[in-house]
Amino acid sequence: MKDSFKHQGKRKQLVDVIKAKGITDPAVLNAIGKIPRHLFMDSSFLDHAYADKAFPIAADQTISQPYTVARQSELLQVKPGDKILEIGTGSGYQTAVLMEMGATVFTIERQNELFKKTQLFLPKLGYRPKRLIFGDGYKGLPEFAPFNGVIVTAGAPFVPKPLMAQLAIGGRLVIPVGEKVQIMTVYTRESETKFVKKEYGEFRFVPLLEDKN
Ligand code: SAH
Repeated sequence: MKDSFKHQGKRKQLVDVIKAKGITDPAVLNAIGKIPRHLFMDSSFLDHAYADKAFPIAADQTISQPYTVARQSELLQVKPGDKILEIGTGSGYQTAVLMEMGATVFTIERQNELFKKTQLFLPKLGYRPKRLIFGDGYKGLPEFAPFNGVIVTAGAPFVPKPLMAQLAIGGRLVIPVGEKVQIMTVYTRESETKFVKKEYGEFRFVPLLEDKN
């Protein structure tokens, strides 16, 4: 579990790369510059950890591309103290970014292997999500709703209704929607019944899976 000047230098370069791609939120840039992404990946990928690319983690899943993590975090408009629900904990990297931004994070993972691994790993870096849950993200977490923001980090074939229902008024759902290619979509809840939808271009994610375990 080492972070070195070499890693820090590479992180600075990564921050420049995602800035050049259009990320401007200082809290997001600060988080990416601070979090040792190489520790979230298998050691064989160490040299690639600060390339702006997705990489395999356990259970056939991937750690999202840093630009994608940054874009989703920016679209979520996290304010310190916000209650955020993340669907798809994976490596925990996105979770760490949200926590660096000052969010209180509830996160759900449906692959038991990843859930167990990340549950042990995050606290070692000092990141303690409010809840890290093994379960099905399609259902959200009604017992802890409402959330100021919900972020889905896998490709959703459709928008799960419970995730909309669990948004606070003024809250935002950031979700990549689609089968092979996903459109990054943001729903802002303006009132009990009114949601405003905006789209932010194409991305590619591993699928949000239903009915397992
Ligand atoms: N945020 C992660 C991205 C991991 S990829 C990171 O930064 O590393 C997407 C994750 O969503 C995978 O770990 C996958 O197992 C998980 N996932 C897929 N379907 C899910 C579901 N229905 N509920 C919760 N998690 C799910």
